[in-house]
Amino acid sequence: MSDLPASAKIVIIGGGIVGASVAYHLGAMGISDVLLLERHQLASGSTWHAAGLVGQLRSNAGVTQLLGYSVALYDRLEAETGLATGWKRNGGLRLACTPERWTEVKRQATTARSFGLEMQLLGPEEAQALWPLMNVEDVIGAAFLPTDGQASPSDIVQALARGARKAGVTIREGVAVTGVRTADGRVAGVETDRGFIACERLVNCAGQWARAVGALAGVNVPLVSVEHQYLITERIAGVTPDLPTLRDPDRLT
Ligand SMILES: Cc1cc2nc3c(=O)[nH]c(=O)nc-3n(C[C@H](O)[C@H](O)[C@H](O)COP(=O)(O)OP(=O)(O)OC[C@H]3O[C@@H](n4cnc5c(N)ncnc54)[C@H](O)[C@@H]3O)c2cc1C
Repeated sequence: MSDLPASAKIVIIGGGIVGASVAYHLGAMGISDVLLLERHQLASGSTWHAAGLVGQLRSNAGVTQLLGYSVALYDRLEAETGLATGWKRNGGLRLACTPERWTEVKRQATTARSFGLEMQLLGPEEAQALWPLMNVEDVIGAAFLPTDGQASPSDIVQALARGARKAGVTIREGVAVTGVRTADGRVAGVETDRGFIACERLVNCAGQWARAVGALAGVNVPLVSVEHQYLITERIAGVTPDLPTLRDPDRLT
């Protein structure tokens, strides 16, 4: 308990990319009486498994704007913190193999441009020039966002955490939150496996465990975990690290 503060204005539960980002941004806002608690190690949850693709285009305009902000942040984070993030702007390709998808992609391009994103609509041959191994027989068109990219999620977490620490935020690993104490309908503090910590506000950044953490305070977090597959292949000739990321939603089977 000795190195844990007895209180903090804000306690963040979870040291994945979301918790680290909240800590970083609170620090950047000049709010330093912040304590992040991670029960294992930073980035040991879902963040550890992520491929690190940063695709900005979403059907939801607000999320598209947020992802545009992420790209701007990743552009400067390494220089700002001195920690490598693995960030590269290799661009993102999204294929359309049905007329309906092509209509959707063109609509998304209009949305993207209205947010200042430079989204290009390409014919099959132009798309193949960017991804030469691709079979374009049934491709109608593709959207290309040159500012999309890829990063190392664990490294981004470490960089955000360093930025947060520089701003005075306290981060403690190996501390599990086991309960939430409330008084007069407000959060009064958290119980941990290392003792009680008083706080005024609590930020639930526990990822797929957010439902369990919410339940500690009697809050229903409507969240269900789903499986997410990924394949790791042997080296494939012609697949190089600078290829754009490729999304092919119509040919998943
Ligand atoms: C295979 C795979 C590939 C993916 N690829 C991408 C991708 O390319 N691009 C993309 O944007 N997203 C991708 N994702 C999604 C991405 O990984 C998640 O959206 C993101 O990592 C969630 O971050 P988080 O901080 O919310 O959760 P997490 O990283 O899971 O962090 C939550 C943390 O809370 C901690 N915690 C839980 N309970 C407690 C407690 N009681 N006390 C203290 N700590 C607690 C956990 O230990 C954990 O470290 C992928 C996911 C998977 C599984």
